[in-house]
Formats: sequence, C-alpha cells, structure tokens
Amino acid sequence: MKIDGHTKVAAIFGDPISHTLSPAMHNAAFKALGLNAVYIPFHVKAASKGALKAAVEAVRALGMMGVNVTIPHKERVFKFLDEADEHAIDIGAVNTIVNRDGRLFGYNTDGAGYLLSLRKETGFRPGGKRVVIIGAGGAARSILYSVLGLSPASVVLVNRTVKRADLLAGEFAPKFSVSVQTAPLEKAVMEKVLASADLVVNTTSIGMMGKGELGLPLSLMPPKAVVSDIVYRPLKTGLIKAAEKRGLKTHAGLGMLVRQGAIGFELWTGKKAPVSVMEKAALKALGQR
Ligand code: NAP
Repeated sequence: MKIDGHTKVAAIFGDPISHTLSPAMHNAAFKALGLNAVYIPFHVKAASKGALKAAVEAVRALGMMGVNVTIPHKERVFKFLDEADEHAIDIGAVNTIVNRDGRLFGYNTDGAGYLLSLRKETGFRPGGKRVVIIGAGGAARSILYSVLGLSPASVVLVNRTVKRADLLAGEFAPKFSVSVQTAPLEKAVMEKVLASADLVVNTTSIGMMGKGELGLPLSLMPPKAVVSDIVYRPLKTGLIKAAEKRGLKTHAGLGMLVRQGAIGFELWTGKKAPVSVMEKAALKALGQR
C-alpha cells in the first residue's frame, strides 16, 4: 500500500472496535480497484465526553471521504451531521457518513444490505410473504423497516422483552400499511408462527460465539421457507446448521455485513464495490480461509 499526499481516508468509529471486519473488507476493495485510499478503525470511547462530536468534526477537518459508525454511536451521531437520508431518519440510526465537500450526510445501509444479501443468496423477496423477525434491538430496527417497505403479507416481531417489540412496532406503524404483530419469545408462540412463515430471521445475539440456542421448531416450517441469521461469528450458527439439517434454505450473517459495507463503499467512491473481494477479505479476517 502506498500512502502519499493524495491518499483518501475512510474510517470506522465504534466502542469496542478491535473485532471489526470492516477495515479488511474496505482496504481489500480499495486495493482491488487500484484506489489510493485507506480505511482505519478508531476506538471512539462512549465514556469519553465529547469524543464522538470531535471524531465527526475530524471527518470534516481532515477531509476524510467518509466513515462507518457502529455500536454504540449509531443513534447519537445524528446531531453532529448536516443532513441524513430519510430512511436513516425513520430507522433512527446512521451507520455510514459521506463527506460531500465538507457537508456530512448520514445513511443507514444495514437494512438494504440485509435484503440485498438475502435476495442474492436465496432469491427471497419479502413482498407478499409472511415474515417472522426475532429480536427488537438495533439490527431488528433496520431489518423490520426495510422489510415493511417491501409490503410483506404479514410480519410478526418476536422478542424476549415484548414491550420492546411493542414500542418498535408502534413506532413504525404509522409509516407502513402492513401491521406488525408482536409476541413473546416462547415455545408455543414459535410453534404457531413458524408453521405459516416464509422467512424467519434471528436478529438477536443468541448463537453469537456459539453461546445460547434459539431452539426453534424448524420442523413445523413450510418446506420452502428460508431461515436467516444475522449473527456471523461463527459463520454458521446453531440455527443455520439446524435449518440445513431440516433441508430448509438458509441465509447466514456475513452477507449482510458485506453488502452493507458495499453500499457504503459505493456512496464514498461512486464505484461499483467488488463484493466478492470484500467477502473473501472478511472471511480471511474471521479466520475462516
Ligand atoms: P441489541 O440492540 O443489543 O439487541 C439485542 C437483541 O437480542 C434484543 O432483541 C434482545 O432481547 C435479544 N437478546 C439478547 N440476549 C438474549 C437472550 N439471552 N435471550 C433472548 N433474547 C436475547 O443488538 P443488535 O445491535 O441488534 O445486534 C444483535 C446481533 O446482530 C449481534 O449478534 C450482532 O453481532 C448482529 N449483527 C449482525 C450484523 C450483520 O451485518 N450481519 C449487523 C448488526 C448486528 P431483549 O430486548 O429482550 O433484551
């Protein structure tokens, strides 16, 4: 890598940040396209007062092309931006900032990245389909919002803390014509909703690093149903393995990570992202290749 007076800089701000796969993905993409650019992770500490504001101001001051923003800054970062995309505003979180001549624009590419990878890997399109989303945290917000935008037949939002699912469903209800039913994450509920689901997606952290198990009654799902899990450590979670065993179509979490990054890359560079290069780099960084 050659760094000189023309090198453009992109970055990611998060806390923690040491496990991020984004630098590997983006630096590989810059290299593949022969772009004089570099992507750096920055540990912007949540506990350090004023750190996020100063970090965002640095994007402007240093003329960086843009940054990704990750946990726990995605919501708080809004107030430091000049403008935000309407979807990011509706979702209430920004994961990508683009610097256009000193004006900072916020986007949320998580939901679009999820749907794109789901379609590319399984052919699934939510329009007219029955969707079950498990979880009501940050990732669920983007996915629920993007799914609702494509007019599914029905959506059930299942969460351990039902109140949180109720709040999320209520927040999005005025924006879409599809109503969202909410339910607790309980065996009897899952037996009922999965029997008529075309897609079930896990957006909780259950299964991350092999910890915990959803124990879903996958045998009750229609044979053409898709089982999706956004957890990507390990690459194949217990849920994905169980679905494969049942012969169901599966969609693992790495695709979402790669596609949300690819959309950001295209916003920054105006060039088509080399998706397979990014995926290979992410796999290598995960220690899987
Ligand atoms: P979050 O905002 O903290 O939400 C966590 C969700 O998991 C909540 O719905 C929470 O339920 C549920 N949960 C956690 N532990 C649970 C347990 N033991 N039993 C039942 N439910 C439990 O987290 P997030 O940002 O949405 O991230 C969730 C997962 O998605 C993480 O593993 C993250 O790595 C992954 N992720 C992947 C991508 C990707 O690109 N593939 C992108 C974003 C996130 P309660 O509301 O009841 O607490």
